[in-house]
Amino acid sequence: MKIQLLTERIPVGISQCALGDPVRYNGGHKHSKVCTELLSQCLELRPFCPEVAIGLGVPRPPIHLIVSDRLRAVGRDDPRMDVTEALENYADRVVPQVAELRGFILMQKSPSCGVRSVPHYKEDGSGALAHGAGLFAARLREHFPHLPIEEVGRLNASDIRENFLTRVFAYDAWYRYVAPDPRPARVTEFYTAYKYLLLAHHQPLTRELGRLLSDTSGYKPQQLAVEVRGRMMEILSHPANRRDRTNALMHSQGHLNEYLTKEERAELTRLIEDYYRGRKPLSAVLTMLRHYLPRSPHQFIHSQVLLAAEPAELGLCDFR
Ligand code: SF4
Repeated sequence: MKIQLLTERIPVGISQCALGDPVRYNGGHKHSKVCTELLSQCLELRPFCPEVAIGLGVPRPPIHLIVSDRLRAVGRDDPRMDVTEALENYADRVVPQVAELRGFILMQKSPSCGVRSVPHYKEDGSGALAHGAGLFAARLREHFPHLPIEEVGRLNASDIRENFLTRVFAYDAWYRYVAPDPRPARVTEFYTAYKYLLLAHHQPLTRELGRLLSDTSGYKPQQLAVEVRGRMMEILSHPANRRDRTNALMHSQGHLNEYLTKEERAELTRLIEDYYRGRKPLSAVLTMLRHYLPRSPHQFIHSQVLLAAEPAELGLCDFR
């Protein structure tokens, strides 16, 4: 299986205020240039504003989350205004639209859209008991547990941006290559193409997944496909570090060594070491590995997504 990472822009949902649309409670927006000018080069950003969609209007009284009989979204100034069910029903209604998406970018700190650090206040609104997801984001996660999700603000960091794009590309590739034909052989082929990239993100979990795929007798085909997709997305959510990337690059070199001269082998080894020590960018190693790739007749190494255009190589993140 030779996976092409990018064919056309990949559909990804986004909190509408991040596009610069004035839909916030105060009539403002939270425009993210990283999203509209950088990520839009490879992502087709489809806007969602849950609070406007449930009819709250702009401007509107602000809401916040309180811990009551359950987590509830109520008016900050008037707790009798309760939009909990309305927000969750909206998330349920947009399931068919979200099913077409390969990722979601959500606005941080919003009681609807925030993913991780939204205050959950005491019932009287006095102090935060905990922090967590907003109601729309939480419901989205329930419907689509493997969908790559990230907060707008965090995408300013190059490494987080790269990780999000890597997950979006993988999720998209899954829907193009496996979802239409989820036979176990196809699932294994997909895993095999991603193997070295997965190793660069988390070696123990990748090996565990490899063991699972060596005996799939306990799984029905669809069940196996969902299990493997979940595990792959989990592995990719771990940031790739330089040590594990180096390990994966050395494995890749191992498949090419017999087709290289002694000098070429030494030069490639030196380059990988230089990358490990931070003296050379990843792109330099990938370029050289790809240069030698045609010499190998082995499909395995040709199929490796690790050696294809990574997000960093698309000019969307810094090299690490
Ligand atoms: S954070 Fe979400 S609900 Fe709030 S304005 Fe932005 S898109 Fe709308």
